[in-house]
Amino acid sequence: MKMQAVVLWEPKRATLEYMERPDAAAGEMIVAVKAAGICGTDLKIYDGDYLSPYPLTPGHELAGTVVSVGSGVSVDWVGRQVGVDPTLTCGTCIFCRSRQSNHCLNWGAIGDTVNGGFAEFVAVPAKNVYRLPQDMPAEVGALIEPLACAEWALERVPVRPGSQALMFGMGPMGVILMRLLLRGGASALTAVDTSPQRLELAVQLGASRSVPADSVDSLVEAHPYGFDLVVDATGAAGVMAQAIRFVRPGGAYLLFGVAARGTLAAIEPYWIYHREITIYSSMAINQSYARAVEIAASSSAVLEPRLVTHTFPLSGYAEAIQAIRAGEGLKIQLRPG
Ligand SMILES: [Zn+2]
Ligand SMILES: [Zn+2]
Repeated sequence: MKMQAVVLWEPKRATLEYMERPDAAAGEMIVAVKAAGICGTDLKIYDGDYLSPYPLTPGHELAGTVVSVGSGVSVDWVGRQVGVDPTLTCGTCIFCRSRQSNHCLNWGAIGDTVNGGFAEFVAVPAKNVYRLPQDMPAEVGALIEPLACAEWALERVPVRPGSQALMFGMGPMGVILMRLLLRGGASALTAVDTSPQRLELAVQLGASRSVPADSVDSLVEAHPYGFDLVVDATGAAGVMAQAIRFVRPGGAYLLFGVAARGTLAAIEPYWIYHREITIYSSMAINQSYARAVEIAASSSAVLEPRLVTHTFPLSGYAEAIQAIRAGEGLKIQLRPG
């Protein structure tokens, strides 16, 4: 049987292909993809700045329905709505055996290093598949992967009840992390961005207030002691250097945005010393997908369809990449089939 799939033949050259549907090998399931999100990593894959091999069908944030299973997998899965943790790990290296599988020496990911969800069907290992409530909208299911990244970040950063947070960068990841923070104890979050449209969305989605990036100095007067937690969700080195000024003594600074490799940021070590600032970072998902499913299934306070502002058919992949580059809306997803 045939299916449609996006194929990235080489950096910046993608076509929509009509190709053979994958078969489920032993231990695998075939998922009919209903929604698949695009993120900053997909821009890197598109541009050839990632570890991906080509040709590749990208798509690592996906949800859908199981249509068939390979040997060793229960047929009870067929017809279930599922989300897929894209993380592929070896299970045998020192990091996999130290509960640090996001640092696996043989790390890979569905849609990054093997074919992913920008297709009508995808073959995935059964151990990467999680059941979702049947009534969960597929677009919410496809948001669980980014939520799992945010969940891992907040396992690392201590957030106390009543914490005052400040976040730079209100893109889709920033907004998801913001909503998790507000759900997980922060009493208020001030949102900073260069885009008035994104600031407006951030406030609609829960931010206590918004500050345009060019007026950020006004926060010094309003918060002379700084914030308990400051988050960079921009990945821009200049912002990362500036944001640390707003951490209160004894506070935490989370580098959540992904800076370009090799970029330097000028940070004053005396400031870190004098304010006793703790710097945190987090990388991708570390066995946090199951908890993200729980969060998504128990309430719409973190994930909800409003976070997805643009959807495209598979044929709109290149257009969707352009929309992300332009910083349009919030989460952008493809809808195969
Ligand atoms: Zn992603
Ligand atoms: Zn490993």
